[in-house]
Amino acid sequence: MPYDVIIVGGGPAGLSAALALGRARKRVLLCDAGPRRNAAAEHVHNFVTRDGTPPEEFRRIGRQQLAAYPNVDVRDAQVDGVEGSSGAFRAAVGADTVEARRVLLCTGMIDELPAIEGFGDLWGHAVFQCPYCHGWEAQDRPWGYLSRAADSSHLLPFALLLRGWTRDLVVFTGGAFEVPDEAALRLRSAGVRLETAAVARLVAEGQRLEAVELADGARVRCEVLFAHPPQRQVGLVGALGLALEGDGSVRVDPMTRQTSVAGVYASGDLTTRMQGAILAAAAGTHAAAAINAELTMELATSGAL
Ligand SMILES: Cc1cc2nc3c(=O)[nH]c(=O)nc-3n(C[C@H](O)[C@H](O)[C@H](O)COP(=O)(O)OP(=O)(O)OC[C@H]3O[C@@H](n4cnc5c(N)ncnc54)[C@H](O)[C@@H]3O)c2cc1C
Repeated sequence: MPYDVIIVGGGPAGLSAALALGRARKRVLLCDAGPRRNAAAEHVHNFVTRDGTPPEEFRRIGRQQLAAYPNVDVRDAQVDGVEGSSGAFRAAVGADTVEARRVLLCTGMIDELPAIEGFGDLWGHAVFQCPYCHGWEAQDRPWGYLSRAADSSHLLPFALLLRGWTRDLVVFTGGAFEVPDEAALRLRSAGVRLETAAVARLVAEGQRLEAVELADGARVRCEVLFAHPPQRQVGLVGALGLALEGDGSVRVDPMTRQTSVAGVYASGDLTTRMQGAILAAAAGTHAAAAINAELTMELATSGAL
């Protein structure tokens, strides 16, 4: 007997989708392979009822709540490939082949951290991507924003956004691009300093950031650094040949969350740059509702219900 839906990825998007599909009496298999986007973070913030919860605890509660639904199976396993077509997919899960009518990808994104000394060790502790997630705890401290050439059009609005949490802000371009005069002027008028030299390393004491060291050895005091490293999709997304948007996110129909491949849906970070746990959870519920409506109509009219 095939599963109705196989969900690949057990972060907020996948857990939330499994809950909705489980409650809709669908047979669901949720597979999760482990490393998740916020693995390095100490707490999940900005998720109502879960503000301040450690990421592992967040997932534990999600799985505990799924355990109440016997029609939902959860496996700690990687999905290595998916073949077939809508109504009759076959997924390679570890050594097994699992059949499912629909596939929902909630595989997140992989952050490709730059090779700056100290960056990887401080990611999730003093180097963050989102001020809504980690700004409150570090408010009024010396902050930096390490911008990339690819994000240069985003530099001004993001730097001005950060000013909402601190007056002490330095923007680092790492020598990678020129900041237009008008943007530099607006940064200065907002009290934001600009450092255009290449960044040599992050100076830290344990997981506490102290300064950003520039190529000439000068140190700029900085306790929290924001950055948006490039992201890539997991291999399964490429293997399925899904159409992508220009920013690399998976293209989905806004109403149904179906991808360019019939019967394959996607929710969460892999589909958007508006990334956050509660947004991913909501998108998971959205996809679950769309899949359930379609499947239920199909099963009811074919006499399978
Ligand atoms: C350092 C850091 C801190 C953050 N802090 C916050 C915060 O405080 N608040 C907030 O709202 N957001 C925060 N975020 C963002 C948040 O983590 C993401 O938006 C959220 O986790 C996205 O959920 P998701 O379900 O789409 O993906 P993920 O949570 O990344 O989950 C995807 C899952 O899919 C699994 N997977 C991938 N491929 C396969 C496969 N082939 N087979 C099986 N499983 C697979 C992965 O192992 C992973 O477990 C943070 C992000 C980072 C990087």
